[in-house]
Amino acid sequence: MNILVTGGAGYIGSTCVHQLVKAGYDVVVLDNLSQGHRAAVHPAAAFVRGDLDDRATIDDVMQAHRPDAVMHFASHTLVGESMEEPFLYLDRNVRCGLNLIRSAAAHNVERFILSSTANLFGTPEQVPIDASERIDPGSPYGESKFILERILHWMDALDTMRFAALRYFNAAGAAHEDLGEDHDPETHLIPIVLEVALGQRDGLSIFGDDYDTPDGTCVRDYIHVLDLADAHIRALEALGDGSCTYNLGNGRGYSVREVIETARAVTGRDIPATVSDRRPGDPDTLIASSDEIRDDLGWAPQYPALETIIETAWQWHQKHPHGYDD
Ligand code: UDP
Repeated sequence: MNILVTGGAGYIGSTCVHQLVKAGYDVVVLDNLSQGHRAAVHPAAAFVRGDLDDRATIDDVMQAHRPDAVMHFASHTLVGESMEEPFLYLDRNVRCGLNLIRSAAAHNVERFILSSTANLFGTPEQVPIDASERIDPGSPYGESKFILERILHWMDALDTMRFAALRYFNAAGAAHEDLGEDHDPETHLIPIVLEVALGQRDGLSIFGDDYDTPDGTCVRDYIHVLDLADAHIRALEALGDGSCTYNLGNGRGYSVREVIETARAVTGRDIPATVSDRRPGDPDTLIASSDEIRDDLGWAPQYPALETIIETAWQWHQKHPHGYDD
């Protein structure tokens, strides 16, 4: 099967490409390298540098590679940024996704997998969050993903293609010591904590300790990037039976303080942290119920322990202290 992976040079996309190649799929990556890294793309995958804003580029890739399925990772993905620059999300994210879906439909691609997000649930009424939770996106970022889910809903209803929407919680960890997370600027908790451990930052800020959680800091469900990749491949294979939407997490939450404590234990380094103001848009607690994907696809996380997640990220950061520039 030929798979077109947009954003296949990014953190989660490149890990999925790696696992797809390992599983025997033919892969073509389409990425504008605005956030991704050419070096992160598996050498066995074809690579096209291009932007999803350009419909002709997408059509060319579709014609040249005739994919059977599309995995769509390429996206702006920051909640905070989307509150400040909403049209990067409500316009560009949506437009690029729509360009891709239209081209996929025109080229008879029958399977489409969308990276979606826990931000669809805003501040959830119930935790763990299952499929029945009310959708009320917490930001323009979450809204942009929800709009794409709805477009795909209509593609399915009109019998154009089947889709899987995978709503990630907090992706973390590294596939191996040469394939990891490298954002510029970095905003995510675990890589920031490890940059402090490496001495690249003096310390980190804990964004608020007055949340309604056991230690007052936000609780998140961290999921290993290889477990996410596994879910994508299972969903890809299951799409022959119909469309699906799943929440993806470990079903267990850790507070910001617990993440820092675990990172201190894993790295053996002092990791100075001070409490600062809350970051706008952060809900108290986000924990996934992944019962549906476990029941339907037999998915189960292989790397659920926070120690393992941080340990794998630490190996990557130690070997590549400046990311893919090293
Ligand atoms: N966080 C923090 N300090 C940082 C970065 C993140 O306290 O320097 C907190 C953030 O407020 C959130 C949690 O860590 O509660 C996870 O944030 P991250 O940006 O990694 O992922 P998000 O939950 O926004 O997807």
